[in-house]
Amino acid sequence: MHELTKFFIGGEWRAATGGAAVSLHDPATGERNVQLAVASEDDVNSAVSAAQRAFDPWALTEPHERVAILRKIAEEIDLRKEELAEAVTSEMGAPLWLSQSAHVSMAPVHFTIAADVLDRFQFERRSGNTLIRYEPIGVCGLITPWNWPLNQICAKLAPALAAGCTVVLKPSEFASLSAVLLAEAIEAAGVPAGVFNLVLGDASTGAEISAHPSIAMVSFTGSTRAGIDVAVRAAPSVKRVHQELGGKSPSVVLDGADLPNAVATVTQFVLLNSGQTCSAPTRLIVPRSKLEQACEIASGVCEAFTVGDPRSEARMGPVVSAAQWNRVQALIKAGVDEGARLVTGGLGKPEGLDRGYYCKPTVFADVHNDMRIAQEEIFGPVLSIVAYDDIEEAIGIANDSPYGLAGYVWGATDDEALAVARRLAVGQIILNGAAMDMSAPFGGYKASGNGREWGELGFEAYLEIKAIVGAASPDMAAGA
Ligand code: NAD
Repeated sequence: MHELTKFFIGGEWRAATGGAAVSLHDPATGERNVQLAVASEDDVNSAVSAAQRAFDPWALTEPHERVAILRKIAEEIDLRKEELAEAVTSEMGAPLWLSQSAHVSMAPVHFTIAADVLDRFQFERRSGNTLIRYEPIGVCGLITPWNWPLNQICAKLAPALAAGCTVVLKPSEFASLSAVLLAEAIEAAGVPAGVFNLVLGDASTGAEISAHPSIAMVSFTGSTRAGIDVAVRAAPSVKRVHQELGGKSPSVVLDGADLPNAVATVTQFVLLNSGQTCSAPTRLIVPRSKLEQACEIASGVCEAFTVGDPRSEARMGPVVSAAQWNRVQALIKAGVDEGARLVTGGLGKPEGLDRGYYCKPTVFADVHNDMRIAQEEIFGPVLSIVAYDDIEEAIGIANDSPYGLAGYVWGATDDEALAVARRLAVGQIILNGAAMDMSAPFGGYKASGNGREWGELGFEAYLEIKAIVGAASPDMAAGA
């Protein structure tokens, strides 16, 4: 049983001052394994004050000093990779092999990328008679979810620190263990006191941060429901709000594409992390003539995808919590009730897995785009296959969604796939199974959010712009 009762504020670990606490359960067994203190209003105020005090000195450091610290943080994370992987597995149930190979390994990459971007960034440039300056926006509140916990924290924290901002981080209550270890890595890297502050808590803590008048920007990743709440609470203080929200991403397979490869890759991606990936291609849109073949391939992948204890060789572990398990079950039931054809999987737990929050890898066919399983984010290992008759219909189905986070297009050639990609209303598209690019901007259209993370655009999100008219002579700008 882990008890988390301290927050990292102003460079030291301080005891929580409020009495509230949250208990969590091991997703693999359902047994209580973590208890964390919920930050009080005083704790949040202390963290914000510490970040305010640290802001000027940090913003005035030379870029090369911040580059050195970012690289040191990446090293310190790497030194703790085994411990971090163990924490991610015990808090959100990802198989240990996945925690090691993806959850933890992505974290230091954000710091390395932010260091590289900072190293070459021009903070001043001239435009006619005007000097344009980019300055860190101020104290940033970072609110993150549990599904790719370290990746989501580091995608915000690295560029914020690189830009010269100071931060107050509130990780998901379900992912506090890994966040505390990450804070220890940051402390060990020698980040000056108050530049990075960690408070733990739940939605109430997120609400305090969203509304705080001394926070200049809130960067939020999580559900669309909570993202809207954050924006509403942030509005009176006119802070910048960055939102990375839910998704229901389409994967369009064109007639000439390599169907077995496309369907197998898509299905594996949906099952990875128990379906708890915001950008997962959960709507597979295939030519009607290929529907049965697609069902067969997807069902074969599901049947071969072993489900079990996250510390075993299993490919898929449990979902994060009892509430999440219930939500997945309710949506599987809605699929059946609305008349979709259950190809494999379905309700209940896989055989022999009575404890813990395990779901069956599930595929639905004959899905119409107006069904709940085509419109709502399930956040479980469930693939919905929708058939189309012509390419215009396929594009229409892909775009008929409240969300617009990611998209996937599979064609006989990249050019053919690109022509369709240009017409999808989503923030990031993967053509023909291309490898992930952690410098490519990541974020959504429509209800999937506002703004972009990762790489150079993710860094610029933490900058304010100042125009100094009349200060653009080459001599004046030389001091930039
Ligand atoms: P969530 O919205 O319940 O919680 C996210 C974070 O916000 C947590 O830290 C939580 O404590 C806090 N929070 C909850 N309600 C709040 C409120 N009203 N005000 C302020 N803070 C609040 O989401 P979750 O269940 O942790 O994560 C799953 C969701 O995150 C999914 O919808 C998924 O698609 C989304 N997500 C999006 C991206 C992306 O980049 N677009 C990435 C990962 C996850």
